[in-house]
Amino acid sequence: MIYSDFQGLKLSRLGFGCMRFKTDPATGEIDQETVNRMFDLAIEKGVNYFDTAYPYLGGKSEIAMAEALKKYPRDSYYIADKFPGHSLPGPIDNIALFNQSLQKCSTDYFDFYLLHNITEWSVKIYESDEYHIIPDILKMKEEGKIRHLGCSFHGGPELLEEFLSRHEGVFEFVQIQCNYLDWTLQDAKKKYEIITDHGLGVWVMEPCRGGKLANLNEEQSARLKQFDPQASNASYAFRFLQELPNIKVILSGMNEVFQVEDNLNTFETYQPLSEAEKNTLLDIAEGMKAGVPCTACRYCCDGCPMGLNIPYLLAVYNDYKVNASAIAGMRLDGLDEDKLPSACIGCGQCSHACPQGIDVPAALAELTKLYAEGPHWEETRKQRGKEIRQALNMDE
Ligand code: SF4
Ligand code: SF4
Repeated sequence: MIYSDFQGLKLSRLGFGCMRFKTDPATGEIDQETVNRMFDLAIEKGVNYFDTAYPYLGGKSEIAMAEALKKYPRDSYYIADKFPGHSLPGPIDNIALFNQSLQKCSTDYFDFYLLHNITEWSVKIYESDEYHIIPDILKMKEEGKIRHLGCSFHGGPELLEEFLSRHEGVFEFVQIQCNYLDWTLQDAKKKYEIITDHGLGVWVMEPCRGGKLANLNEEQSARLKQFDPQASNASYAFRFLQELPNIKVILSGMNEVFQVEDNLNTFETYQPLSEAEKNTLLDIAEGMKAGVPCTACRYCCDGCPMGLNIPYLLAVYNDYKVNASAIAGMRLDGLDEDKLPSACIGCGQCSHACPQGIDVPAALAELTKLYAEGPHWEETRKQRGKEIRQALNMDE
């Protein structure tokens, strides 16, 4: 196993993500036996980092993780959990919720704890005085119930810079979606640099973009097979990340034993990519993109009569074109109505200014449609909020 050093801790660079455990489709129950087998194998080969979150698998992930870890000494592994500010039904007793997570994880402290899923929308909740989240979480840290505090982040680079600057000294690490597709598609490169410049550690989620980079099409797979017929597509996605020195932990949401075996094999030793391998990955990524080639030069912005943040909107558009997700929608949820793509009046000024020749009004019109179609975070939030209220015995 390859390890990273974080403040003197020896962390396995492969972290076990606990959001995709196999469940029975009829009952929703987690296949605990498979979880136990996967953990045993991972621990035997040196994995020591396990990442869960309050809402994963309807609140059952924390319990299944604790069950699989219970035979191991508490100081032989690290666990990470997350505070679900983005799922709250309204201001709640944050400390009661935190304590419930501790209880479900059968522990009295978290090695790592994160504010979950910060975006342009959820940041307003996390920073609101009414919700009082950050002061309460810092109190838990002062009491020794959190050893290291971080956040998981799905917003754009501008917000990341602002957020970290506003909370200098609060966070020690940031977890971002990073893989060879999002390196450019979601500005992961820029985010990696911002986090590194703030002196914080980078944690990675979605290294295979929810399986997309593991399940490449035939033509894409054949391009990788020419380098090594035995290597899996996923192994290339991990090796791309292994090269980045400030990435301390790469989380993989494993749900089958064969995935654990394959990942352990990839992380046994550091295997740098050759130039040809790296270029092939970046070229495959380019082929997956289906949006517009916006370089965020901002030449179009000053002349927009509606004052729209055009490159921001086009970045969200590009994300939608690869995968329509509630998180992409959440980035628009955070905007005032007069800054949404629907505020575009189609004057065409931007397209004339654009060196890439992008038909911006057409892209924004399509984005308006995609956003309306969903999925919408608000629906998930309502369901999760209801579960949280029940778990805390709050009146409806
Ligand atoms: S077409 Fe839309 S985005 Fe472009 S300048 Fe006009 S109002 Fe702004
Ligand atoms: S001018 Fe074109 S490339 Fe530059 S930010 Fe605007 S849309 Fe993007």
